[in-house]
Amino acid sequence: MEKTLWEVYTKEQLEELEKVTSSYKDFLDAGKTERECVAEIIRLAQEQGYKDLSTLETVQPGDKVYVPWMEKSIALFNVGEEALENGMNILGAHIDSPRMDLKQNPLYEESGFAYFDTHYYGGIKKYQWVTLPLAIHGVVVKKDGTKMNISIGENENDPVFTVTDLLVHLSAKQLEKNASVVVEGENLDLLVGNRPLEGEEKDAVAAQISKLLKETYGMEKEDFMSAELEVVPAGKARDLGFDRSMIMAYGQDDRVCAYTSLAAMFEVPDVKRTSCCILVDKEEIGSVGATGMHSRFFENAVAELLDKCGQFSELKLRRTMANSTMISSDVSAAYDPMYPEVYDKKSSAFFGKGIVINKHTGSRGKSGSNDANAEYIAKIRNVFGTHDVAFQMTEMGKIDVGGGGTIAYILAQFGMEVIDGGVALLCMHAPWEVSSKADVYEAYRAYCAFLKDMK
Ligand code: MN
Ligand code: MN
Repeated sequence: MEKTLWEVYTKEQLEELEKVTSSYKDFLDAGKTERECVAEIIRLAQEQGYKDLSTLETVQPGDKVYVPWMEKSIALFNVGEEALENGMNILGAHIDSPRMDLKQNPLYEESGFAYFDTHYYGGIKKYQWVTLPLAIHGVVVKKDGTKMNISIGENENDPVFTVTDLLVHLSAKQLEKNASVVVEGENLDLLVGNRPLEGEEKDAVAAQISKLLKETYGMEKEDFMSAELEVVPAGKARDLGFDRSMIMAYGQDDRVCAYTSLAAMFEVPDVKRTSCCILVDKEEIGSVGATGMHSRFFENAVAELLDKCGQFSELKLRRTMANSTMISSDVSAAYDPMYPEVYDKKSSAFFGKGIVINKHTGSRGKSGSNDANAEYIAKIRNVFGTHDVAFQMTEMGKIDVGGGGTIAYILAQFGMEVIDGGVALLCMHAPWEVSSKADVYEAYRAYCAFLKDMK
């Protein structure tokens, strides 16, 4: 495709594009952690008539259900007329994003400043996370099980937090360092206070913070042990550019694919073949743990669904998984003209050219990748062709420069057809990532086409 999507969209499509991307920005603002995303997904799904599977005795074709897992991952099913063992059309993405987590004993004082100790999560360029307004989101669970949701730093009147960096005047030595150690992990501590508590002799500033936490949240120092508090950039998703053609926001990896997959589920309510959307946690650290894609939770959810449809057997469960087809969506690297040396221009993703399809991901000799079958890619091409979906077949960067993985290979272990797709970003894993509105909208169109016509 020579032209960009901006030049080929109709007036109606441009209007729909604004609607989809505006809802996408709202989704990003509502979900800055995996837990907040799951809560928002449930709220949106219920508006569309989805019900919690655990509350239903039986399930019939036409029913729409969701299965949350530990408030961090979720699977949604739109049950079709066809037997489940014929397979499902699955859209998958992840809802965790790189960030800094508070350590379990985070509060300390040094030279009159109070800090929260952090441990970063996912792959970040540490030097990018300093001198930014930061917010704290998450949960604190007290010993008796009471759970408090925390969100500080997003409202205009909230305070924000930050990680300091050295002034340039004293940085001669620092600037000689390798960029990977210019700011080190242990230096990513959050500045949270500077005012001593009256009458306190030792660590009076930290004592003040403790007092405020107690007053505001009824929180003891020990409660940090059973807390999950995530430090993320403060502020909302914004339009980028005079022409408002792009979006700048935190957490677009991979909430851009999560949101557009979810929106497609809602847009295609009547299906013959069951459609499914799985939005999972822990991708950024290897899809591990009970809420990551390696967990059996998804397979268990499908087993529960089969049971409530009156179709369960161990063999039928295996057939359901093996006969499914999936677009495993994650963000990809968009060509950045500021850094042409890392891209093979012929195999690069460009802004405004549509959903990105990767036959494989991985690094070096495709290591760690699901390498999609030619037969399946042909089917995808056919579906996209029928619905006039613009896609670009790409690889992420030059060979041997780097690479990355997704959840694709994990689902492929069930023997199903899986391909990597998604939206190309600039500044992936930076505090503020950049997407093209046209690509966000085209990904949504691609997922709708897939749910309608893949078989
Ligand atoms: Mn990702
Ligand atoms: Mn990532």
